[in-house]
This record gives sequence, C-alpha cells and structure tokens, in this order.
Amino acid sequence: MALDPPTMLTISVALAAAAALYLAVEWRSIRVPSLLFWSAGFATITVGSTLALLRMSGLLLIGIWFANGLLVVAHWFFLLGVARFTQVRLSRAWYLIFVTWLALLFLPDEPSWSKIMLLANSLLVGLLSLRASFLLRPHGKSLSVGAVQLRYVLLIHGCFYFAKALTAVVPGTLIDLASLRGEIIQISLVEGVMAIMLIALSMTGTERYRREKQIARLAERDPLTALYNRRALERRAPNLLAEASTNRPGALLLIDIDNFKPVNDLYGHTAGDQLLVTLSEMIRSVLPEGALAARLGGDEFVILLGNASSERIAALGQTLREQFHHAAAQAFTTPEAVTLSIGANLFDQPPASLAALIEQGDAALYATKRSGRNSIRIVDLTQ
Ligand code: GH3
Ligand code: MG
Repeated sequence: MALDPPTMLTISVALAAAAALYLAVEWRSIRVPSLLFWSAGFATITVGSTLALLRMSGLLLIGIWFANGLLVVAHWFFLLGVARFTQVRLSRAWYLIFVTWLALLFLPDEPSWSKIMLLANSLLVGLLSLRASFLLRPHGKSLSVGAVQLRYVLLIHGCFYFAKALTAVVPGTLIDLASLRGEIIQISLVEGVMAIMLIALSMTGTERYRREKQIARLAERDPLTALYNRRALERRAPNLLAEASTNRPGALLLIDIDNFKPVNDLYGHTAGDQLLVTLSEMIRSVLPEGALAARLGGDEFVILLGNASSERIAALGQTLREQFHHAAAQAFTTPEAVTLSIGANLFDQPPASLAALIEQGDAALYATKRSGRNSIRIVDLTQ
C-alpha cells in the first residue's frame, strides 16, 4: 500500500482513536483530569482527520477549515491537560486562538489561500505545543521521567510546526491543501503519525510515573505524622550505620511519650493524634542535616544520627524534652505530667543490624521509664 495522503490520514485516524481510548481507560482507573483532556484531544484528532478525508470529495470548508480547526482544538486540549498536570492557570488570552481561526473563514478565495491557511494552522499548533512544553519545564522540583519525555516531544512537535509555517512563506513552495499536494504536507502527515504515538505514550507515562512516585512516598511515610515509618527507616539506615567510626560515632535515640494514654482517655483520640503530630514537628525542627527520624508505631519515635557525641545527644534530648513538656502542659491537664523518656546509644562501629540497635535503645528507654520517666539515658558503647 502506497503511503499516499489518504492512507496516512487513515492511519492517523486509527492511531488517534486508539490513543483517545487508551487515555480514557487510564483516566477511568486513576481519575486525574489531565488524562481526560488528553483523551479529548486525541478524540478531536480522530474526528478532524476523518473529516480531512472529505476534502477529496470536494467538501473544502469541512475538509480543510473545519478539520484543521479541530487540529488546533486538539492541541488546545493537550495544553489544558498539561496545565492541569502542572497546576498552572492559563491566561484567558489563549482563547484568542479561536477568534483567529474564525477570522480565517473570511479569507478571500485566491491562490494564496492554501498557504495562509497552512501558515495560520502551523503557527497556532506550534504555539500551543511550545506553550505546553514550556509549562513542563522544571519548577525547582525535579520532573518525572514521563513529564520530561512529554516536554521534549512537545518541544520538537512545536518546532516542527514552526518550521512548517516557514515553508508557507518561502516563495515558490507548492502547497495545495485541497488535493494534499506539496512535500511539506506529505512530511507533515508522517510527522503527525509519529507525534500521535510519542505524545500519547509520554502522556500515559507522565501520570503513571507521578502515581508510582506518590505510592512509593506513601508506602514509606507514617500517615499521621508524615515521618518515615519503620520500613523506610530499615531501608535508609544501613548507609548511615555503615559510616560509624571512632572519629564519627553514630547515635540512636528512642523516644516514648510518658503518660500518653491519659491524654487519649481524657481528651479523646484526636487530641492524642494532635500531640503526636506536635512531637513529630518538634523532632523535624531539631533534626540535624543527614540524620533520620521515624515513627516506629504508637507513641514511639526514633532518631538516627551520624557524627554524634554524648554532649550532642544530651543537648538534643534536653531541647526536645523541654519543648514537649511545655507544649503538653499548655494543652492538657493530666494527673501525671505528659513528658518524654529517651533511651540513647552511642556507637563507633557499624552495629550488627538496625533491629539490634533498636533493641539496645529499648533497654535504655525501659531503664529511663523505670527510674521515673522524663529523662534521657545514654549508653556509650564507644568506651
Ligand atoms: P508510658 O508512660 O509507660 O509510656 O505509658 P503511655 O500512657 O504513654 O502508654 P504506652 O506508651 O504504653 O502506649 C502508647 C499508647 O498510645 C497506647 C495507645 O492508646 C496510644 N496510641 C497508639 N497509637 C496511637 C495513635 O495513632 N493515636 C493516638 N491518639 N493514640 C495512639
Ligand atoms: Mg508511652
């Protein structure tokens, strides 16, 4: 089968329909609006490319002006989807694109008609694609792999359309939209097929990568305090533990709230939750660079430090205990003071495992509890 324009358009119809369907199915499972906009964009291309075939039957208004207009609308949907993805509000000035397209209806029927139509169409599609690509530039935080792919695909697609616009102003170029004759039209049809595939693939990747990242993030965070959970700590601790040496001892602080149950009993579980969040924020605010903090469960938290010393542990523990005691006393009146007990270990060689280290910390914590709570016990394993 020869790759003549009608064949290329038919392939575009099939691919765009498949992309629209695929993105719609993806949207049904994860319900993010950008996928719906992108699906609508490909559905519009499906209709536009089908209508474009009608020009062969002499229906020029529908087959050219309307069909090419739908290509602009499709890119408009792509831009809207990217704006939703990047959470950027688009200026209303972008609606002027439709006014421009409407104005082309009144183009006089003269030999340059095809060129002006192609010029306007290419500029508008190029502009929408480049704007979408520009929205996907990194804003401080790093982009997912899918978003980077989409950014470059839209950039190349946009540049191609600007180059296409240039050919319309080069004197002597053959451009006949009615019979789809002219080299640039043929090249554009091939580019269209490639662009449909690449844009659709990177669009699905975009949301999928973001979702995978979100799931990975959720899986390693404690839902109440957003600190790392035990699993995340186990995954991250080995690097820090392996660095322990005589010059740079490591430390583990195991922290448990004293008399936390009465807060729940007297003030309710929500108040208890709030106190756990308060403590997690305090821990975050005193955490040195490179240290790790996690909620092990219940009212038990852990801090893992590199480059520690007894004095540093004592100072950190005291700050936390004072801040927490003050905040709890302000918020709740309880029979027994709501304070912090801390069991800490200082070690100058990598411990057998995190679990073994936590067990030692637990012993120190237990001793603190037994000796009256609201204090810190440091076990120096470096001596
Ligand atoms: P101790 O001074 O010996 O540490 O006793 P405690 O009252 O602090 O109680 P303990 O540490 O033995 O037990 C922790 C309690 O924390 C048990 C449970 O009622 C409560 N708790 C555990 N998880 C949560 C939570 O997610 N939210 C709230 N509000 N309470 C929790
Ligand atoms: Mg407790």
